[in-house]
Amino acid sequence: QANRVDENAPGSAALGYKHDATKVDTKKFPAYAAGKNCANCMLYQGKPTDPWANCAALGGKQVAAKGWCMAWAKKA
Ligand code: SF4
Repeated sequence: QANRVDENAPGSAALGYKHDATKVDTKKFPAYAAGKNCANCMLYQGKPTDPWANCAALGGKQVAAKGWCMAWAKKA
């Protein structure tokens, strides 16, 4: 899926992004807490039920609903 974010690209790696939030390196990214994920982040540009959606923080590429990065902000 060409339009999906590459976890290993410099921009996403710098934010600690993982498609699977449980794989986040919590030593480097202590802001992660269980239950935080892209689906409940205000930057997720899809419905919470969409498995993939664009994210403005990651260049408008698609991120996984179950993913997470340090730009996470609680959806209002
Ligand atoms: Fe996921 Fe939010 Fe980070 Fe985008 S900003 S990758 S939606 S946690």
